[in-house]
Amino acid sequence: MDGMEEHETEQAPAAATQDAPTRSSPANRFTAAVGPWLDRALLNVRVWLPALRTPDLKSRQVKYRARESRTAMTWKIGLPRQCWQCAATEGLVSRKFSQEIRSFEAPTNILGGTWGAAALLLLIWIFFGIAWSLRLALLIAAGGLVALWIKSWQERVRVTVWSCAEHLDEMPCPEAVSYDEDLYLYVPSEQLAEVARAELIASRKKEGKHLPEPRAEKAAATRDRERAEDRAPPPPSPIITRDELPPLKLAGDEEETP
Ligand SMILES: [Zn+2]
Repeated sequence: MDGMEEHETEQAPAAATQDAPTRSSPANRFTAAVGPWLDRALLNVRVWLPALRTPDLKSRQVKYRARESRTAMTWKIGLPRQCWQCAATEGLVSRKFSQEIRSFEAPTNILGGTWGAAALLLLIWIFFGIAWSLRLALLIAAGGLVALWIKSWQERVRVTVWSCAEHLDEMPCPEAVSYDEDLYLYVPSEQLAEVARAELIASRKKEGKHLPEPRAEKAAATRDRERAEDRAPPPPSPIITRDELPPLKLAGDEEETP
């Protein structure tokens, strides 16, 4: 395609870019350092616990599967060829965002177990004032975070986003969370997410025609179920007592009766 440029943008940690020289008070520096980290943690928690996802977040979500979009530890995502902002399809420029994200194994189990125990110990401290239970609660909560970190790894996410010349400068990097063999990508607009989801469904349908395995699996499952039913005793047939039977009328009855 003519007139298309490509930019590769390495996404630096947000803390570094937001640290403007004018903000130099310790409180501001603390916010600049911790804020992006907290945002990131909150986004992860929202992916781990779907109940916490806001409607806005859900509307901008596109979910990619690892077996379709990940090779080794790198996700490669191409968003629909339309401007991320105004949906224009002419005079597009693409930009490639590359970011490293941390993926966690079974975060809900680890945090649920350790923080649940810590909460119980905290309650014991509140109601009975046993000093060691507070210390133990803090220790277990910290241990949970350490375990979470140990069971985590880095993944790279490369996303290609398209833009018209007008909106190129404001183009944000889509946020991504990798969890349980899926990549949750949050794109800048709801409209773009809708188109991306439709493209995914269409490509899966096309793939489905080439790959008959799921159908074969389903057929095998049906066969197994039928076999199981064959072995099982037949369902009891409804018992009809003699009284309930309607009076039998044979074809010749009426002619024979006077
Ligand atoms: Zn545009």
